[in-house]
Amino acid sequence: MKDDCPCCSGGPVLGRRGVLGLGLIAASLATTATAARAREDEPPIETPPGSPLGFTPLSPTPATPPPPGPRHLKFRHLHTEKNLEVVYWDEGRYVWDALQAVNEHLSDFRSLEVHPIDVRVLDILFTLQALTGSKEPFRIISAFRSPATNEMLQDQSAAVNGSSQVARKSLHMEGKAIDMRLNDVSLTGLRDAALALQGGGVGYYPDSGFVHVDIGPVRTWQGT
Ligand SMILES: [Zn+2]
Repeated sequence: MKDDCPCCSGGPVLGRRGVLGLGLIAASLATTATAARAREDEPPIETPPGSPLGFTPLSPTPATPPPPGPRHLKFRHLHTEKNLEVVYWDEGRYVWDALQAVNEHLSDFRSLEVHPIDVRVLDILFTLQALTGSKEPFRIISAFRSPATNEMLQDQSAAVNGSSQVARKSLHMEGKAIDMRLNDVSLTGLRDAALALQGGGVGYYPDSGFVHVDIGPVRTWQGT
């Protein structure tokens, strides 16, 4: 039933290569790229039971801060097949134009709505890139989701699974979560690096071939 996954984008991911690497740290975890199709996850826990806030508080600064120097990121969105390479932080400050470009690139590809992506998510990605030594762009499965898109995914999930696995208040709806993989890093290596950051939630989706990271409370789970 995986091909009928309610969160599936409905199409295979093409393997066209993105932009060239920038050479951060020598690769240490390079392994065979995953060949899974692009899907979307839903973290099963985003509002802890009994939370008086009705929503999760955000995590503090990640235990592992970004490396010093300019922070650059490369993306390849697997649904739009667009590439982006930016220096989003330089000389002690975030680069406004670069952030706008990131927001556009990581917008809701269904509704075309653009929403700011929290810079802490970008910092997590940049640190992951350094920790893993990846030279590849982040392959993006899902970033921002509009409320309408999230509701649609909820309905699809409920129709297939009986009850929805889609979080009602997903951090994707606030630009605080991203689903991605690196083609030169094993999925377990990427997951373990994300867990080591202690920067928020980490969801591992081996069948779908991606890792979800967010800046919610530090927690972890495994999906399909
Ligand atoms: Zn996610």
